Amino acid sequence: MTDAPLDAVVVGSGPNGLAAAVALARAGHRVTVLEAADQIGGGTRTAELTVPGVLHDICSAIHPFGVASPFLSSLPLDEHGLVWRWPEVDVAHPLDDGTAGTLVRSLDESAAGLGVDGARWRRTFGPLVRDFDRLAPDVLGPIMRVPDHPLLMAKFGLRAGLPASVFVRRFKTEQARALFAGCAAHVYRPLTGLTTAAVGTMLISAGHRHGWPVAEGGSHAITRALASLLESLGGTIETRVDVRSLADLPAARVTMFDTSPRGFAEIAGDRLPRLRQRSFRRWKYGPGAYKLDLAVRGGIPWSAGACRRAGTVHLGGTSEEVAQAEAAVGRGEMPERPFVLVGQQYLCDPTRSAGDVHPVWAYAHVPPAYAGDATRAVLDQIERFAPGSRERIVAMNVMTPADYEAYNPNYVGGDIATGANTVRQLVARPGFRADNYATGIPGMYLCSAATPPGAGVHGMCGYRAANRALRYLGSQ
Ligand SMILES: Cc1cc2nc3c(=O)[nH]c(=O)nc-3n(C[C@H](O)[C@H](O)[C@H](O)COP(=O)(O)OP(=O)(O)OC[C@H]3O[C@@H](n4cnc5c(N)ncnc54)[C@H](O)[C@@H]3O)c2cc1C
Repeated sequence: MTDAPLDAVVVGSGPNGLAAAVALARAGHRVTVLEAADQIGGGTRTAELTVPGVLHDICSAIHPFGVASPFLSSLPLDEHGLVWRWPEVDVAHPLDDGTAGTLVRSLDESAAGLGVDGARWRRTFGPLVRDFDRLAPDVLGPIMRVPDHPLLMAKFGLRAGLPASVFVRRFKTEQARALFAGCAAHVYRPLTGLTTAAVGTMLISAGHRHGWPVAEGGSHAITRALASLLESLGGTIETRVDVRSLADLPAARVTMFDTSPRGFAEIAGDRLPRLRQRSFRRWKYGPGAYKLDLAVRGGIPWSAGACRRAGTVHLGGTSEEVAQAEAAVGRGEMPERPFVLVGQQYLCDPTRSAGDVHPVWAYAHVPPAYAGDATRAVLDQIERFAPGSRERIVAMNVMTPADYEAYNPNYVGGDIATGANTVRQLVARPGFRADNYATGIPGMYLCSAATPPGAGVHGMCGYRAANRALRYLGSQ
């Protein structure tokens, strides 16, 4: 680093930190990123966790919002090595009778596979799929503001405002109900709550518009492309710099924090106004993730054919069972049959496998900071829909909620969303104020998934926070 003062410092190199850095560098500012870990990427990293040559995504794996992101899709990331790959089937949700609810990119094809629910599936999602690219900027931002497309947002709101457990009743078949419930469960909250249909509605609409792709070579390809673009714009990145207090920061006109609100409050200490200090420290964290990275010879022998072609498989049985599992987690209890998300990225990206040994990514929703052993429960859910899968596992890596918190301080108690998706925290992320990204200290902004639009690899939190910072820089 040179001695000349920087325009911007970004603390943390997750996708939002890097997105903020790129947005600032593109506007001509001198930016540096400081990352505590020895590698950049936060929730968007890949490593050989089991067998040499088998590449596992440590956190994020499937990227419907990555490919659909208004900001990421505006960047020349392909020129920096990012290649999206789409599986033949985007999402499959198997049932005990050997059938599966199936989502493919084509709305018509998906509808045709849902029998008597086909027409209703098309009517429910068709209007949002058609206008998805106009809807995305409104939905992937703060909710408390006048939308650019109010009618479209109203259409979305009519569906999204419902509890997912009520929403599923519009479908008659268990395949359609379970398919929706599995997508809705990404909200990480009991499905009986208001607005719990929102995430499922967006994920399904994004899936029919852009698919649920993976990044060739592993999710770290997204990180590497953002970092390479940043460096081409003159930005710099330093690893192994754990920012503990504001005194650790180099002089800069603005500072962006890709941290949790609690993490920021600790760094800012007394500089933070008292009310903000209190609200950031009270920020509520959600359920945890318990993940198994499996090296599987020959892949998982799913009973339902669609699952053998699917990038993402949702395990939990019927919509009712998924709702029960999520309700238990919401009460702080470990369900016997948890909701499990399985990623088979290798199906469309063979560069991740070593011969016939393939990486399988599987994590369960568990209570906040769950300290028990959920390995058997996850393997049982896989075995339930793929008898004989256990015998094919040649190596396994386990990541508990505590491991996630140690891996990344943003994942408090293993909460991979950097904050519970309660109605309050969805509407006011990370608090009720006009500017969701401002911290109360002039020139300092939060840009992590704790700000709108929340978790996921889309870079929109970073991009929107950077826009606030650019306005501040322009006004100085
Ligand atoms: C198991 C799992 C599965 C997931 N699956 C998906 C998926 O399939 N698709 C998807 O879109 N999303 C998924 N996610 C969520 C996604 O990874 C996150 O929402 C996303 O990474 C958030 O990005 P971020 O930039 O806000 O923060 P993070 O990615 O959490 O990065 C924050 C970075 O800041 C650094 N940092 C924090 N504090 C400091 C400090 N004081 N000093 C210096 N550095 C600091 C951290 O080390 C970290 O590198 C998953 C996450 C997990 C854990």
